[in-house]
Amino acid sequence: MRSLVLVGHGSHVNSRAARSVYRVAEELRQLGSFSEVIECFWKEEPSLRQALRVTGSTDVTVVPFFLSDGYFTDTVIPRELGLGHQGPVPPEGIARVLGGKTVRYLPPYGSFPGLSDVLVACAREALPEANAEDVALVLLGHPSARRGGHLERHAQVIREARQFAEVQVLYLEDHLAHAPWLDVIQAEQVVVVPFFSDHALSEAAPPLSVSLGVQDGQAGGKSVTVAPPVGTHPGLARMLAGHALNATQDGFSGDADRVHLAAWTELMQLARRGLRLGEAVITPQGTLFDLRNALDEGRPSAELTTFVTVEGLRDTIRVDDSGAHRPVRTFRNLPRHWRAVFSEDDLPAAIHALYPATVEEAYSCGCHSLRSTPWPTTARRQTGIYARVQKAAPAQVEEVARRVCSRCLRTRLWASQPLPHTFLTGVPGAVPCAEACTYLIAAVREHLAERPAEENS
Ligand code: SF4
Repeated sequence: MRSLVLVGHGSHVNSRAARSVYRVAEELRQLGSFSEVIECFWKEEPSLRQALRVTGSTDVTVVPFFLSDGYFTDTVIPRELGLGHQGPVPPEGIARVLGGKTVRYLPPYGSFPGLSDVLVACAREALPEANAEDVALVLLGHPSARRGGHLERHAQVIREARQFAEVQVLYLEDHLAHAPWLDVIQAEQVVVVPFFSDHALSEAAPPLSVSLGVQDGQAGGKSVTVAPPVGTHPGLARMLAGHALNATQDGFSGDADRVHLAAWTELMQLARRGLRLGEAVITPQGTLFDLRNALDEGRPSAELTTFVTVEGLRDTIRVDDSGAHRPVRTFRNLPRHWRAVFSEDDLPAAIHALYPATVEEAYSCGCHSLRSTPWPTTARRQTGIYARVQKAAPAQVEEVARRVCSRCLRTRLWASQPLPHTFLTGVPGAVPCAEACTYLIAAVREHLAERPAEENS
């Protein structure tokens, strides 16, 4: 058994920030190279701190869905996973044994050598009729892509293969539309391949063709075609799976994680009798299970939107009834007016999508093996813009937590709140919170920013 964890940044406010990670994870699942593919995020659930708990095997390969080295790949991800590593990750990755699991942490996918071929495929597919030897290939990166030099390395590999008339690297700087970026290009026909994971760097960003000064396929007297970003190419998942599998060729293959298996066995036994979990209710119907918001219990199915895929359910419950993003899935704003119908095989993935990590954490809580992390320990671990939360007084943390956590089903074990039962022992809304989530950490930081400095000391 082998688990692949795809790590994205996610967002506390924008539900679309995680879409590229979800898309590639779905493609990886369809390839079937790994027993399971799990998405994890810095600012959404399942969080990086929950990543190893929610994986079902003892062999875990972690791939950061980032194109460049940087703060997240070098500092945040290894720190949150507890790898005891800081700094650039070598090409072969780093391996650790954590809690009985062999964990391999690989560098960002932008460094994988196979990405050169995906970049070439992007360019060729954007200009299928053109003779590539007459075309200039421009690889366009965000300025942060300079870190690690991966973009330059891909350009050099493609240059040496002599498939294009020329290969240039361009960074998306301010005022690019007015800069003479085309002056250095000799060929009359140009294809630009964005070294991005998704179509927009932000919702507010203008289309790339506008940033590049391209109008009706022309710029500076040349024909310019902007290809879809490399992160959206259908060949990316296969390349990524192949690289991740190569990294596991060390003769080791994992077993089923015993605690994970026991937790889900218990959950399924309860589900077969009907179970209330948080704001949801699971009802067995023959060989299938009906999952819905408990407030819609008893409503005729015809009045609800029915989902039969985990992805359909996931995309629905990632926003509330007003369309607002739900970065913390245990917030008490589960949307209504839907039902999801799953077989016994698919029900665990559906519950994972609905309430990530709750089954594993509730089970461990019942076994008295869920270790909570007190606030001072969580705060000390923070770096970068979040390091300032270390200055928060206990009363300030409590003030923010009362406001934020009152919206959440979870009980704060990390603040010594008692939780004698969970939904596994008959209390639907009883879900443990082992440590402060990044949403709360961000709220504490904002709270401090609103206070004069002397109040924070
Ligand atoms: Fe919920 Fe608060 Fe725990 Fe975050 S810290 S998961 S908001 S209880």
